[in-house]
Amino acid sequence: MTTKYLFFTGGVVSSVGKGVTAAATGLLLKERGFKVAVQKLDPYINVDPGTMSPYQHGEVYVLDDGAETDLDLGHYERFVDIRLSRVSNFTTGQVYAEIISKERRGDYLGGTIQVIPHITNEIKRRIGLVAKETGAEIVILEVGGTVGDIESQPFLEALRQLRNEVGRENCLFVHVTWLPTIGATGEIKTKPTQHSVAALRSIGISPNVIIARADQNVDKGLCEKIALFCDVEKDSVIPMKTADVLYEVPLLLEKLGVGELMLNKLGLKAMRKPNMRPWKKLVEEVRKPKPTVNVALVGKYVELQDAYMSVREALKHAGIANSVEVEIGWVHSADLEKDKGWDVIKKADAILVPGGFGSRGVEGKIMAARYARENKIPYLGLCLGMQVMCIDFARHVLELEEANSSEFDRSTEHPIIDLMLDQRSITDMGGTMRLGLYPCLLQKGTKAANAYAVPRVDERHRHRFEFNNAYRDSFAEHGMVFSGLSPDGKLVEIVELTDHPYMVASQFHPEFLSRPMKPHPLFVGLLKAAKERRRK
Ligand code: GLN
Repeated sequence: MTTKYLFFTGGVVSSVGKGVTAAATGLLLKERGFKVAVQKLDPYINVDPGTMSPYQHGEVYVLDDGAETDLDLGHYERFVDIRLSRVSNFTTGQVYAEIISKERRGDYLGGTIQVIPHITNEIKRRIGLVAKETGAEIVILEVGGTVGDIESQPFLEALRQLRNEVGRENCLFVHVTWLPTIGATGEIKTKPTQHSVAALRSIGISPNVIIARADQNVDKGLCEKIALFCDVEKDSVIPMKTADVLYEVPLLLEKLGVGELMLNKLGLKAMRKPNMRPWKKLVEEVRKPKPTVNVALVGKYVELQDAYMSVREALKHAGIANSVEVEIGWVHSADLEKDKGWDVIKKADAILVPGGFGSRGVEGKIMAARYARENKIPYLGLCLGMQVMCIDFARHVLELEEANSSEFDRSTEHPIIDLMLDQRSITDMGGTMRLGLYPCLLQKGTKAANAYAVPRVDERHRHRFEFNNAYRDSFAEHGMVFSGLSPDGKLVEIVELTDHPYMVASQFHPEFLSRPMKPHPLFVGLLKAAKERRRK
């Protein structure tokens, strides 16, 4: 079968849920029996988001192969339930880096390098890789940013060219826009959508489908108006009201006939009837009134909750599995150092300390870990959250007052968290951490092993520092259990406490592998313990 393409572009404003819409559409097509792959094109000049501030970019989502990618890839993996690879995300920075290194090598034999055709060809080459690598029948491709941005022009031009190369019948342009409401009259406006479609058409692309996002119900008349002004067929304007439950989006799109519409337009026939039952059940489960558990999330970037997208989703998934409503109390770790935010910690049924970089707010995280340990509050530490749990243990149980990670104190007497040997000589910041999937063997009888119920797991990593083995024996003597180790036994992957209901932490990021229907065992374990504590 020739590969079919669905190109998702965004109009009017960013953050209208283009990624979620694309991901949910992917699910509807997968449910109809097609092999679906996804790709996101990011117009910024950074090579990847790995070196960007979480405040700028939100979470950096890590894939099996260690690619540091946009958080939308998390939506794709969670909705479509697939495992993506490096080819699924690229940036303008990567495209230019490739072209410039070729130019320096002399590959162009003196030719002038231009956006068209050199940059656009490289973009098309990278798009082609997805179908080649995955054997997908349908490729869902999302262009980051908003139509009209200078940065995204080469991408859109490449898609325009690609449309002619693969044949118009093999691709669809889906434009996701926003319909604002004017406060005083409550009137829904289509003009910004008209303008953004005009901008798209000015570069030679007419959308085939418009998904018009709005906070209100959008009536048929308005859809017809959009169809008329934007030159699309009437049935191709999909009004998409904001969903209160994220995982309802595929159900809403299905109800609006999006799955069939896309297939019809691509000249395809469903190979089987989609089974949306599991998603219906999931949403029913989310809607059911349930007892609440409070989870204090002690982070460094809590002002922007997108920085913890996968952690938040993983908590949701585990909440559904435990039949509890998870209420997240966002705590800025630096506040704890200034005696603020403790009210949230004190009423928490569980404390979660996620990942992070740099020394700001680390002492607050250590305080949170100490509080969880001393007060026997269920605790889950993720990456830095594991490291701070170990620092607290060293300082206050082993009484090594100086204990620290060498990330925060280079000359500490007790670097209980330290740089791996192979990290010492690295000077480049980008893409040089321990990244991606690594195996971990679980030690029998531990909380971690019981939670996973399998002897070996593979989990995604993103860190430079590791537990320092020189301290393993003294930690163990005092009740710290190394419940997950690398197969050669050299790297500590999971730690836990014996004398505690649930104090478990991992050097990897379990949140990246949690799925709505397959909640992650370590998160499920946390909420089970939280529920138990609440019951008592
Ligand atoms: N900064 C720590 C390290 O590099 C933890 C990283 C993280 O939490 N992802 O090891």
